[in-house]
Formats: sequence, structure tokens, C-alpha cells
Amino acid sequence: MTSIVVVGANWGDEGKGRIVDFLAENASASIRFQGGNNAGHTVVNDFGTFKLHQLPSGIFNPNCLAVLGPGMVISPAALSEEINEVKAANIDVKLSISDRATLCLPLHALEDTLEEQRLGDAAYGSTRQGIAPAYGDRVMKKGILVGWLKQPEVLQQRIQFLLDWKLPQLKALYPDCEFNQTAEEMTNWLLEVTAPWRQFICNVTEPLKALQKEKANLVFEAQLGAGRDLVYGEYPWTTSSNVTAAYAGIGSGLPALYPERVVAVAKSFSSSVGTGTLVTAMEHQDNFRESANEYGAVTGRPRDMGFFDAVATRNGVELQAATEIALTKIDCLSGMTDLKICVAYEGQHPENPIWPQTASLTPVYEQMQSWSEDISGCRTFDSLPIAAQNYVTRIEELMGVPVSMVSVGPEREQMIIR
Ligand code: GDP
Ligand code: MG
Repeated sequence: MTSIVVVGANWGDEGKGRIVDFLAENASASIRFQGGNNAGHTVVNDFGTFKLHQLPSGIFNPNCLAVLGPGMVISPAALSEEINEVKAANIDVKLSISDRATLCLPLHALEDTLEEQRLGDAAYGSTRQGIAPAYGDRVMKKGILVGWLKQPEVLQQRIQFLLDWKLPQLKALYPDCEFNQTAEEMTNWLLEVTAPWRQFICNVTEPLKALQKEKANLVFEAQLGAGRDLVYGEYPWTTSSNVTAAYAGIGSGLPALYPERVVAVAKSFSSSVGTGTLVTAMEHQDNFRESANEYGAVTGRPRDMGFFDAVATRNGVELQAATEIALTKIDCLSGMTDLKICVAYEGQHPENPIWPQTASLTPVYEQMQSWSEDISGCRTFDSLPIAAQNYVTRIEELMGVPVSMVSVGPEREQMIIR
């Protein structure tokens, strides 16, 4: 049996979905352990091109149980839509949805939007899906659990409890706030929109424990990357949940998980969407962003582009006790005339990228030899140009763990296994 945890080493959008799709070919369960509809995980395989938001990226294997873990916040209507989309593509999803997960309601999305508007220039760069308010309510013990969808009376009571607390606050803080739904209306709406998946709500620990007993392969999938972890990321420009590998068990329903492999997915260069500082930001980004297709999967926002940041990435690798690295998008570096790796920072907190990275940090670069060949057809390490091989081995040296997978394109087969 192998439990593989797939996490981001950077700030998200490293290609985790693509790696999970590849690894789940031999898995019995594919599990999302945190986050919600703010995720955008792209998978390109024989079934087509998909941007998954709440479903785990292993759904394309018909033998793989798709688990939405208790650490997630679930946007109910969006989940129904996503299930319909994949069904329309003839994908037969076997679902298990945690009764302990938290619902992310339209009220949360409204709160998220009103707060971003109030903050103006100081906004967090939220996807405005309601993720932070939904997790916030969970912590305040006002959250609405997915399991209550099976107990409509409890559901309505808990929604009333939430409204009594939240609406006076919203109306006081945001004069434009208009929310007139009653607890009964919200309950009825929830029961209607969750009809396509309510039957799959369960204690997901049971099927997962059974699979563990059978020594089945399990793939756990994080959303975002170490730099956005609520505790270890660049607070407050973080997400609102724990995205790091140690949380995989807790957020999945197998709290005592000891994974055999932790695959840190790292992009061959840096990119980041939302706010925060990208220390290795390139001076001229537009052409490279265009050729590497670096736009947010949920919002379409242009991502900030930078050189490979070995300091931040090593932090992402060490923090998560990664056993290996999956290096993605190296094909995008073909033809880059100025290719370099940031090997250190100078300035405030140079040794500790866990701290907010201030603009006063200066990257120290190592110049790398570039290559011009199209490498998207390479399937062995030896067939890569020597300069590309050197780029990978230098990253490996700097990270202290092997680069076991090198991805040379978005499709499942565009992969070099070392
Ligand atoms: P995730 O959120 O970590 O799953 O990553 P995203 O799907 O948001 O972003 C990764 C983007 O890079 C997607 O558009 C993928 O199709 C694409 N991608 C993944 N791996 C590769 C690769 O090796 N080469 C290229 N060119 N694109 C890739
Ligand atoms: Mg993404």
C-alpha cells in the first residue's frame, strides 16, 4: 500500500491536479483534504480538458473513490454543477462526501465580496467564493455542517442560529448589504440544490479505513501551496485553511495518516496570483506569462511571473517533509534567453521565508544555461537537452530531495519519470 500526499511547494497552481491525475491511475481513492470552490486544478487527458474545483483530480479513474474530506468547505450549487459537467463528459464518479465538512453558502460569498469591496486597495485578492467566512464560521462554531443536510430540522435551526449572529454584523458593517432570505428559504434551497449528491454524504473515515486495510493506494490532494498555508504561509496573504502535507490526514478523515510519499509539486519558475510579494518577479513578464499561459484558473487574473525561487521552494519542501519533487512546466522555459535561479535572499529575514516576504528582500541569482529546443515530446531524462538536465539537477541539489517526476506538458502522458 502507498499513501501519496500531493502538495504545492510554492503559492499554488503548480500543477497538482495534473500530477494527481497521473498518480491516480493506480489509486483506489483520491481525496481532497482542504479548500473548496476556490481551487482550480487543471487536468488534460483522454477525456478532455477539465478545471476541477471541488472534485478531486483522480475522478478519471473509474475504480477510484472520489472523497471530499472533512477539512473542505463545500459550495453546494457549484458542486452539483461540477458533478453534472463531468457526467456529461461520460465520467462515472464514485463519490464519498464528508458529513463533517462545512458548507460554504451564498451568504459567505456575499460577505467575502462585501469585505473585499470595503478593503479597496488593501483587499486580500480573494476569489470571493466565501471561503474565508465559511472557515471563519466553522472556527466560531457557527458553521453549517454538510451532515445536517440529512437532518433538515437541525439544518434550519443551525441556519437560524447563524443568521441571528451574522446578519446584524453584516448590516452594521456594510450599509449596502442586502440579504433577506429566511432560514426556511435557505434550508429549502439547500435541500433542492444538494439533491444530486446528498446520498453520498457519509463518515468518509469508514471507506478510507477499509481501503487502508486492503492495502490500497490512496492519493491525497492539497489545494494551493505552502506559501499560502494559513499558519506557515505569508500571512495575511494566505488562504484560510492548512494546505501543508501534515494536514492531509486530518482533513481527509484519516487523522493518523503516515504517508509513504509526499510529492511536493514545484513549478520550474515562480508565479503567483492574488496579493503578496514575489521576490523573484521578472522585470518584463508579459511575453512569458502569455507563452506559459499563466492566468488564474478560477478568476482568469494574470499571475505575477518570476524566476525559480529556491529559498521559498526549499521551505515548501522541508516544511512538508517532502520525499520527492514533481517539477512541472519545464517545457515553458525553452527559448528563455535569461534563465536564472534565486539561490538566496539578501535583506530582512533572509533565512526565513516563512515570515512575510517584504519588498526589501533582494534575490541572489545563479545564472543557468538556457536551451531553445521544444522538449514537450521528451519522455526520458536523457533525451532532454543537457542544459535542461542541468537545470533539473541543480534544483534537486538545492532542494535536498530527488526530482522524481519532470512534467513537460499539461497532458497526462507528457511526463518523465526518473
Ligand atoms: P494546480 O492548481 O496546482 O492544480 O495547477 P493549475 O491547474 O491551476 O495550473 C497549472 C497549469 O499548468 C494548468 O493550466 C495546467 O494545464 C498546466 N500544466 C501543468 N503541468 C504542465 C507542464 O508540465 N507544462 C505545461 N506547459 N503546462 C502544464
Ligand atoms: Mg490552480
